[in-house]
Amino acid sequence: MARLVIVSNRVAVPDRTKRPGGLEVALRAAFKRHPGVWFGWSGRVARKRSDVLTQRIERDCITYIVTDLADEDFQEFYNGFANRVLWPILHYRVDLAEFTRRDLSGYFRVNERFVNELNHILRPDDLIWVHDYHLIPLGRALRQRGHRNRIGFFLHIPFPPPEILTALPNHEQLIPRLTDYDLIAFQTGDDASNCARYLTRECGLHSRDFNFSVGDRVVRIDICPVGIDVENFARLARRAMRASFVREVLDSLSGRAMIIGVDRLDYSKGITYRMEAFDRFLAAHPEWRGKVTYLQITPKTRTEIPEYAQMEEVVNGIAGHINGTYGEAAWTPIRYVNKAHSRTALAGLYRGARVGLVTPLRDGMNLVSKEYVAAQNPDDPGVLILSQFAGAAHEMKDALLVNPYDPEGVGSAISRALSMPLDERQKRHRALLAVLVQNDAPHWADRFLANLQDKKSQPQWGAQPTLSMSESTRSHARMLR
Ligand code: UDP
Repeated sequence: MARLVIVSNRVAVPDRTKRPGGLEVALRAAFKRHPGVWFGWSGRVARKRSDVLTQRIERDCITYIVTDLADEDFQEFYNGFANRVLWPILHYRVDLAEFTRRDLSGYFRVNERFVNELNHILRPDDLIWVHDYHLIPLGRALRQRGHRNRIGFFLHIPFPPPEILTALPNHEQLIPRLTDYDLIAFQTGDDASNCARYLTRECGLHSRDFNFSVGDRVVRIDICPVGIDVENFARLARRAMRASFVREVLDSLSGRAMIIGVDRLDYSKGITYRMEAFDRFLAAHPEWRGKVTYLQITPKTRTEIPEYAQMEEVVNGIAGHINGTYGEAAWTPIRYVNKAHSRTALAGLYRGARVGLVTPLRDGMNLVSKEYVAAQNPDDPGVLILSQFAGAAHEMKDALLVNPYDPEGVGSAISRALSMPLDERQKRHRALLAVLVQNDAPHWADRFLANLQDKKSQPQWGAQPTLSMSESTRSHARMLR
């Protein structure tokens, strides 16, 4: 059986103090069927390049190989190009991108470094699965070292239309490198079509049913929405209702309904718009004042990046303003918490919340929306309000779908969710849960790997080119080789 080699920016080495996330569970389950190696950044930053260490850790039949980043690499690759350029542009926020050539070259340098390490690890028949926007050029770098393996790439975040992506300086050096993978998979049909349009428009490639001819190879684009570990999360939520922390929070509501939002502090999550929507809701529905509490759990991330620090101030200001305007001595409308919470705590809080408020401005998938649904008590479920711009909205049609840029619309959805009769809540929850079960995390990983191994898109190394194209597109195609 082929070995599986997963390459991702961060590696989830099992840690007894932390319950693994759904994705980790799914990828570890994939290793049960294909024993192998998980390679990536250790999360540590070495002050000097000479201090960089690579470690090998064997756990439960998986080999974890983790390597440190030198400080310069961390700044240019991770903080720089990945998080200050690719993250905003792929989330449709060209205005926030801060491109420098230095960061771009740091990004390529780290991808090359990863490939240097992988060179010692890879065997000819390994299946290689590369994850996310940090590692777009990794496939090309592997091909340049002569690796002919099946290599697949999964993008966890959105892929914008070419009209936006071409605003990325030097995009033509980076994005066409996706075609060195055999399989490029996305969360939604929109992301997949955007990529197909980019390859057609910018690289002059032609496709049939998302199969692109690139020289003598076939590159396949696929839609593979990521799922969660539904059954385990539901079990965790049932148990979490007995956890003292969850009981304490629920008791402190004194019978008030709870709305919950859980997001990293990130501009893509639309937290300021969401708070404004809650403001509009309280203004339009005075009958709910004093009867509902909105708990927003927002751990801080990427604090080195100025936009994130500024956003912290803005969100603090809005939450304070709403609490000052509507709050009373015995009632705080918004509880805004910057601490990260354990999965157990979140599972219990989701279950105790009448409304899950998930309104990102743009999101690859949004796992919180799926976890909220999985955590509900089927006999008395809460209602999910979901942004139409979250990848999850493509599957979760029975949520109350909203435009996060429309605070009045979101405010009305809050009112509708809080007053929704039990039979409608149950009906919607049943439909949502069925979707989640059908495509849970293990299915997602199996599907990706099955498609990666699928004979239909096997590369035909050494076969005659099948691409028919004009001279101008030929020169683009040459750039891809
Ligand atoms: N999460 C967590 N503790 C927190 C906040 C979030 O464990 O305090 C988890 C949450 O349960 C979910 C993930 O972080 O599994 C967030 O995933 P999502 O797709 O919603 O957003 P991302 O942060 O990946 O953009």
